[in-house]
Amino acid sequence: MRHIFVTGGVVSSLGKGLTAASIGALLECWGLRVSLQKLDPYLNVDPGTMSPFQHGEVYVLDDGAETDLDLGHYERFTHARLTRRNSVSAGQIYETILRRERRGDFLGQTVQVIPHVTDEIKDRLHRAEEDGVDVAIVELGGTAGDMEGMPFLEALRQFALDVGRANVLFAHVALLPYLRMADEVKTKPAQQSVATLRALGIQPDLLLCRTEKHLTGEIRKKLSLFCNVPAAGVIQELDVTSIYAVPALLHGEGVDRFILDSFSLEAGPCDLSPWERVREMESRRRRQLAIALVGKYIDLQDAYKSVYEALEHGALACGCRLDVVRVDSEILTGDSVLGLLKDCAGILVPGGFGNRGIDGKLLAIRHARERGIPFLGICLGMQLAVVEFARHRAGLDGAHSTEFDPATPHPVIAPMEDQKNLANLGGSMRLGSYPCRIAPRSLLHRAYGRDEVRERHRHRYEFNGAYRERLLDSGLAIGGTHPGGLVEAVEVEDHPWFVGVQFHPEFQSKPHRPHPLFRDFVAAALRR
Ligand code: GLN
Repeated sequence: MRHIFVTGGVVSSLGKGLTAASIGALLECWGLRVSLQKLDPYLNVDPGTMSPFQHGEVYVLDDGAETDLDLGHYERFTHARLTRRNSVSAGQIYETILRRERRGDFLGQTVQVIPHVTDEIKDRLHRAEEDGVDVAIVELGGTAGDMEGMPFLEALRQFALDVGRANVLFAHVALLPYLRMADEVKTKPAQQSVATLRALGIQPDLLLCRTEKHLTGEIRKKLSLFCNVPAAGVIQELDVTSIYAVPALLHGEGVDRFILDSFSLEAGPCDLSPWERVREMESRRRRQLAIALVGKYIDLQDAYKSVYEALEHGALACGCRLDVVRVDSEILTGDSVLGLLKDCAGILVPGGFGNRGIDGKLLAIRHARERGIPFLGICLGMQLAVVEFARHRAGLDGAHSTEFDPATPHPVIAPMEDQKNLANLGGSMRLGSYPCRIAPRSLLHRAYGRDEVRERHRHRYEFNGAYRERLLDSGLAIGGTHPGGLVEAVEVEDHPWFVGVQFHPEFQSKPHRPHPLFRDFVAAALRR
């Protein structure tokens, strides 16, 4: 097995995750099998407890692992099978070591960063190794030189020594800032970031230069010389308008050839057509459509990352461009609803936790339901759709989720453990992939074209089965249920397209395989 370690330099938010995913995608075009793993130097055990305001979305895997959003890029770009082993944080490493220390496993030794922490990191790299994988791509979070990242860089250096330097490529993604006053692209920050790595015993083989301007031959030569990277390894990674352009862009720069040659890997021929097709679909689009996303993290590009991507995939499938209007649920009031949602052909309410903005979301849902505007509610969005329906269609005054009103007279959404006669689905948070039986003749069935699907969950509260009959009598329909009886999806009978799902369909959408619910949601909005 060969290994590519992707590090970042100069600043964060360089698109390291996208670069790693795109390299994986390219190698798959050559017929190789890749795996992807993320190492995060923060001390949280996983991002499950981190606010999306700080860390962007929590991406959930089939096995229920709550991971960094970069794993979403990995799944959208490649066929790599990801499990909790593919997401490692310093918190996990230290937790393991400290537990072993308390158990007395270290037999009187002093427990130290080297070798104990570095050994544990290397062990995690090996544990993620899978039979049949040709190239394992590992991305290190943070920026070269960060204090927290040091043990990880040291572990990567040792790892290369252990498995043989020829089996490892160090790829460094660095920013080349453009100074408008001087009309110049500057190489110094990249040089210094590479110097930091070299001081730690890591010589990058590939230098991926994030830049808004084309690099001249002179700059490439300079980077090669000062960073000690072969000329063919200096790669220009230009800003692009679509992330799905990155694999072809890197191919044009010869990244894949460089990797294959460095590893002496036989592969090919290279078939880029899946990515060319996506680009073609992107450029063929004519109609433009406005969709409202009503949430509380709308100022953050990353907080609903997978939802934005899945919407884009749906739009690709329908041949239109989306203008996603981000509506802050906290400022939505009865008076502003009409104005803010006026031109939107569809309304989406995504998942979320906590009280803030709940009333605004309920207003948006009522607006969608009463005016026949296509609606997709995800997780919290589905729960609030049930609350709204209960209050205004089923006559259940004061209905709510007990998450927001523990004393509500009508707890239409309540924690699983409060509900009798239902399958016991384990701990307090339902996490990961669960089966869902699709009701015949439902909108879900039309979308999926199947009787059973698996979707990923991340929530504590559920549809309260005690209100099922009452809500159905008022015109709610059940689109899908867990085999144990829990309601997983609701629809509204006399509405063109109103769907709420307890799960997160956005996590399984790919550009080549748009999720059927996002596709049908966009299609319904187009018909409006
Ligand atoms: N807060 C809700 C719950 O815990 C919804 C969670 C979500 O939208 N992911 O059930």
